[in-house]
Formats: sequence, structure tokens, C-alpha cells
Amino acid sequence: MAHIKTIGILTSGGDAPGMNAAIRAVTRSAIYNGFKVKGIYRGYRGLITNEIVDFKTQNVSNIIQQGGTILKTARCKEFTTPEGRKLAYEHMRNHEIDALVVIGGDGSLTGARIFAEEFDVPIVGLPGTIDNDLYGTDHTIGYDTALNTIMWCVDRIRDTASSHERLFFIEVMGRNAGFLAINGAIATGAEAAIIPEISTPEEQLDQLIQNGFRKSKNSSIVLVAESPRTGGAMALADRVKEKYPQYDTRVTILGHLQRGGSPTAQDRILASRLGAAAIDALIEGQRNVMIGDDDEKIVYVPFSKAIHKDKPVDPELVETLRRLSI
Ligand code: ATP
Repeated sequence: MAHIKTIGILTSGGDAPGMNAAIRAVTRSAIYNGFKVKGIYRGYRGLITNEIVDFKTQNVSNIIQQGGTILKTARCKEFTTPEGRKLAYEHMRNHEIDALVVIGGDGSLTGARIFAEEFDVPIVGLPGTIDNDLYGTDHTIGYDTALNTIMWCVDRIRDTASSHERLFFIEVMGRNAGFLAINGAIATGAEAAIIPEISTPEEQLDQLIQNGFRKSKNSSIVLVAESPRTGGAMALADRVKEKYPQYDTRVTILGHLQRGGSPTAQDRILASRLGAAAIDALIEGQRNVMIGDDDEKIVYVPFSKAIHKDKPVDPELVETLRRLSI
């Protein structure tokens, strides 16, 4: 697009490993194509508080391996108001930013969509969240690293669970999506995953017990997706203690451990490919799209679809876990 000279970049919402690799890819690819780049700190908040700086290739040196985001991130309430967004637009224009690349989850892309429509700004989004809950991309940036972290943690819990012959409920992140829980369970040989996508957590739990789970095993591990719909690991463990007191039950909540760490090769490569593709998309005149990866192919997914369409958990995964946990 001839009229785009300067591209602003920000990371928003929950941080995810690989965001730095994405910042690097966007910055380098933009400069390679002759654009100027401005880094916006603390997500949408930085647009409102005017924390905007020039970004050169050196600003993104030596960050591909770092977790977190060098641009920092934030949740910004002011940006959800028309006044906040107006101020954000004024600062953006004062810095002569013509287009934005927003890296974040569904909330961040929702904000991007509203902002783009209100002020006619070209915006391209990158799926940056460990939850993998954005429609139109096989994986989000950060998901693979979080999954590997979960695997590392659960392997260690298995050692103590089997020594004491305990039943462990391990809560993992995912918001309302069960991807981390189901794939984490398959990767660790867990006995079950309780996820919001199938039936009620009570039904899933009772079914597990009725199927004779634990059988000859000397430990059991159940991964629970953190969500109001599952009620979380603590509530499920309380239910087991009450209904099935014969089990020696424990709970571990992995929490923010899952957000940290150096990104895996897969996340670095995904972030690099999607980041470079974001600049191609702007050059092609694309706007209001999230860049996704569909079967190793770059795709442009309209924000409305990426945010609003539910991304289903493959029933084959649920069946595989069930079969392998006998
Ligand atoms: P994660 O999935 O990792 O939590 P996220 O991007 O979904 O990341 P949110 O906190 O939901 O995280 O959203 C990040 C920011 O996006 C919000 O703090 C807000 O500034 C902006 N945002 C979210 N929803 C809206 C909206 N409806 N209108 C304007 N801005 C929004």
C-alpha cells in the first residue's frame, strides 16, 4: 500500500512465549520492505499514554529466545471507551503511524477490530496467546511452549503421585478452551482431561470413576482446564473427597508457570512466519485480518471470524485419550 510508511507494533493481553520472536519478525520484515517501525509499549495503554519509540533492527536483536515481551503488555480499560480510543488514535497520528500490527488474544483482536472500524486504520493481527483459542489458525503463538511446560511439570508430579498412590487434579490454563488440557493429558499419559467443550465436569468426573479409573494403577492424573465451566481443579477434588473418599486426592494449579520460558522451536518458527506474513498482508492491502497457519499455509482470517467462531477440540483427541488411559 503506497500510503503506508510507518507501521506500529504492540503486544496486548496475556503474554505468551514467542511474542518476542513475532516482534522481531514484524520489525525486521517491515524494515526489509522499506517501512519505518515504531514500538508501542504496554499494549493499547501505550497508545493512550504515548509510550511510542522508533524501532530499528538492533531493537530486536537477541530476543528470539526470550519469553515474555520486550514491548511489555497490559490490559487497558480506557481503550474500551470511545474517548480512550480517540486519544490512542491522536497519539498514533502524531507519530505518523499509518498501520498497526497487534499481537494478542481474542480481547486484543476485538479491540483492534473496533479501532480499525472507528478510525479507518489498517490493522493486522497475530494470534499471540497460550490458550490456542483463536479460530482460523491451527496454533497460536505460545501454545506449543505452554504445552511443553505443562508436560515438564506433569511428568514431575507423576513421580510423587505414583510414590504415594495418589489421585492428582492438575489445573492448566486455557480460558474456556481445553486444548492445553487435552493435549497435555495425551502427552503425559494422564488418565483424563476435564474440559469445557464436552459435557458437564460432574458428568465427566462420574464417568471416569464409573469406568473404573485407577484400576490396577498406582496413581492417577487428571488435567483440568481452568474455566468457570469446569469449576477448576479445587472444586473437582472437593467433589471427589465428598463422593469417593477412598481416593487420596491432591491438587496442583500450574498457574503462571505456563506463561514463562524460552519459546520452543515450533513457536519461534510460527512467530517468525506469521510476523513476516503480517507485513506481506499490509503490502497486499489487507486489513482487519488475523494471520493464521492452516496446515502449514499462511491464511488471512477476518477478525470477526477469528474472534467469534468457536474453535472445536477434535473429538478424535478425546477418543484417543480415553482409549489410551485404560
Ligand atoms: P489472553 O487471551 O492471553 O488473555 P487477550 O488479548 O484476550 O489475551 P484481554 O484482556 O481480553 O486479553 O484483552 C486485551 C485488551 O484488549 C484489553 O485490556 C483491552 O484494552 C482490549 N480490548 C478487549 N476487548 C475490547 C473491546 N471490546 N473494545 C476495545 N478494546 C478491547
